[in-house]
Amino acid sequence: MDIVKKRRYQMASTDESLDIIVRGTEILNEPLLNKGAAFTLEERDTLGLRGLVPPKVGTLEEQVERVLENFRSKIDPMEKYIFLAALHDRNETLYYKVLTENMREMTPIVYTPVVGKACQQFGHIYRKNRGMYISIQDRGHIREMFDNWNQEEVDIIVVSDGSRILGLGDLGANGMGIPIGKLALYVAGGGIFPCKTLPILLDAGTNNEMLLNDPLYLGVNKRRVKDEKYYALVDEFVNAAVDRWPKVLIQWEDFTNNHSFALLEKYRDKVPSFNDDIQGTGAMVLAGLFGALRVKDEQLIDQRVVFFGAGSAATGIAQKVLAGMMIEGKLSEKEALKRFWIYDYFGLVTEAQKKRVPKPMALFARKEKEIATFLELIKKVKPTVLIGVSGQGRAFNEIIIKEMHKYTKQPIIFSLSNPTKNSECTAEQAYTWTNGDAIFASGSPYDPVRLNGKIYTPGQGNNMFIFPGVGLGAKLCGAKHITESMFIAAARTLALMVNDYELSLGAIYPDLGKIRQISTAIAAAVCRVAYDEDEATVPEPDDIMDYVRENMYHPYYPKYVAVTE
Ligand code: NAD
Repeated sequence: MDIVKKRRYQMASTDESLDIIVRGTEILNEPLLNKGAAFTLEERDTLGLRGLVPPKVGTLEEQVERVLENFRSKIDPMEKYIFLAALHDRNETLYYKVLTENMREMTPIVYTPVVGKACQQFGHIYRKNRGMYISIQDRGHIREMFDNWNQEEVDIIVVSDGSRILGLGDLGANGMGIPIGKLALYVAGGGIFPCKTLPILLDAGTNNEMLLNDPLYLGVNKRRVKDEKYYALVDEFVNAAVDRWPKVLIQWEDFTNNHSFALLEKYRDKVPSFNDDIQGTGAMVLAGLFGALRVKDEQLIDQRVVFFGAGSAATGIAQKVLAGMMIEGKLSEKEALKRFWIYDYFGLVTEAQKKRVPKPMALFARKEKEIATFLELIKKVKPTVLIGVSGQGRAFNEIIIKEMHKYTKQPIIFSLSNPTKNSECTAEQAYTWTNGDAIFASGSPYDPVRLNGKIYTPGQGNNMFIFPGVGLGAKLCGAKHITESMFIAAARTLALMVNDYELSLGAIYPDLGKIRQISTAIAAAVCRVAYDEDEATVPEPDDIMDYVRENMYHPYYPKYVAVTE
């Protein structure tokens, strides 16, 4: 094992002290080891750092203060993104300390919405490499490429092919910002060890003309390859990854619908893997529904659920709500399916129309004839739950919402489309048009709304509530697969993390500031399911919650002890 491997290996421990076998600038240039000015005088002497850092021995807390001062002095969100990325590449402990303690402030920069802009400009703001690129030109070499990655252990790979980045379309290799951002949230929110994460961009070309004509574009300058070559690339990648890291968990991220469902199906039984856009979103919405039903004191099986939009998010949500009705409500699939109506731009998804939606959505096709308009559907179905995942801003107008409210005292309205301008209705509209009766959540954040002297706090359905805990739990118990029941357990756990006071304000999701507690609880729930379903490969600990807590990463500086090999 070479020096770098050994060092990184050791960083996976939670020990108070760390044996170091390298010296001087090499330590300063390794973000997993660097402490900047916080090296003690003893460390400076024994590690050959005297004179290479300023005289004053700083503390992690002082460094956090300095970072925050700089971060907050920047007005432009892109400048903030670049600043944080540079810190990430310089000193990971400090980066994660800052991120972990300021989740609400930093998440919109590290992830959506600012990461979207960063991806669009990726080739122009690129500074230093992070993660691995596997391109169509690498066919036949992927396994040996993984030997270039200098970590013996990788727990989680987040992989994207850049074909459908957030709502921004095909961004090719620029999509790398997404796996990097998601894994940063895994570490900060879920306590996965940073040295055990690997962001990967599968570069199968791009059909984005602007990028193909951009001299600073960093990806393969060719159009996307056809399916046969595409699937061969993915297959080689998965086999090579599993060969190199047999227990690795793979998270699929931001793939177009024509590939995302097929990849999920193809690999979910072979490798512990999941697709966050589909499954994470589904669990996050199911948790919101559980929360809303706590407010209404009703059961999931008593709901009539209408979807506006039948794409990947809708499919994932419908699948999870269906599973929730079957697992929690003990309904048969046939009975549960009677409670769903899916509407897309061509009308209601019926038997005659089911070829126009993603394959798994065909299950939800209705037997009845087409319904001419969405308003007519609302009148006919009298939904209790309305879920907007169409990307069509303001599609839920006053007539639609008031019609729904006529039949349902407290309508549950989720306008999940991002960014804010695409939200099917605003929080203010939902509350105003229902005279404050709506239970509302959105994909993009909305400020609290004051109406008739009362403050309403809209929920923000953020996938970050779910995936870090699911990944952490699955890793800690060595789950062979990521199952439906694990996501249902995650949703149920998340819903219980909302306290009664938050519910009374209308918030059906907990405060993002509690993300570490949330991820711990979700991870323990996922482990419980894995042990019950015989999916775990790690022996069951006496106390699962303690086991999870003890195995989470916390950003701190261990004492470095110089040793010779
Ligand atoms: P998608 O492209 O797969 O699906 C969108 C669907 O809406 C398509 O089936 C499309 O035909 C349909 N649609 C378009 N115009 C319509 C119209 N006028 N009437 C009815 N249907 C129409 O996209 P997706 O991944 O499913 O995402 C949809 C939206 O959900 C995006 O805005 C995304 O940002 C949002 N989303 C939010 C979260 C979250 O809140 N955490 C998670 C995932 C997705």
